Amino acid sequence: MENDILKVLITEEQIRRRVQELGVELTKDYEGKDPVIVGVLKGVVVFYADMIRQIKTPCQMDFMWISSYAGTTSTGSMQVKRDISADIRGRHVLILEDIFDTGNSLDFTYRHLLSKEPASLKICTFLDKPERRKPGITLKPDYVGYTVPNEFVVGYGLDFNEHYRNLPYIGVLKPEAYEG
Ligand code: 5GP
Ligand code: MG
Repeated sequence: MENDILKVLITEEQIRRRVQELGVELTKDYEGKDPVIVGVLKGVVVFYADMIRQIKTPCQMDFMWISSYAGTTSTGSMQVKRDISADIRGRHVLILEDIFDTGNSLDFTYRHLLSKEPASLKICTFLDKPERRKPGITLKPDYVGYTVPNEFVVGYGLDFNEHYRNLPYIGVLKPEAYEG
C-alpha cells in the first residue's frame, strides 16, 4: 500500500497540528451552542474522529450518506442514501467533510440540511481544492484544514476504489497504482 504512494502531501504530524488548531477555533465559535456535528460518510470518518475530540464543548454527533444517482454519469444529481437522525430545526449545525472538490456534494448536502431550518449552518472541510470548483458553485467553506493543488489525493479517509482510506497521511498515488 505504502509502495503505491508517489509523494506525501500532508504528514501525520501536520494533520495533528492543524486539527488541534481547528479545534481551538471551533471550540471558541461553538461554546454554549451545543452544535450538531454532521459528518458526510464515508470519507470523513478519520477526520471526524480526530476533529470531534478537539472540540472541547458539548456537541452532538450525526452522519449522513449521499451518493450520485446510480446509472447516470451526470454530476450534480445526488441523493440522500441515509439521512441524519437528529431534528436540527433551530439547532446550530456544522458539516464536516473530507474534501471540497467540484463542490457538488457539499452544495447538495448544504441545501438538504438548510431545508431543515437550522439556526446556523457552517462547513468545515479538511481539504479544499479550489482549482477544481465547478462554475456556479458559490458556496464557501467556513473552516479549511489545508488547501491542496489539483491532484488526486488518498489517505486519512480518502479512497481510490475504496482502498487507501487507512493511510495516516495525505498522499498522491503513483500512476501505476491506478492501472494496477
Ligand atoms: P465534490 O467534487 O462533490 O466536491 O467531491 C465529491 C467527493 O469526491 C468527495 O467527498 C470525495 O469523496 C471525492 N473526491 C474529490 N476529490 C478527491 C480526491 O482528490 N481524492 C479522493 N480520494 N477523493 C476525492
Ligand atoms: Mg466524501
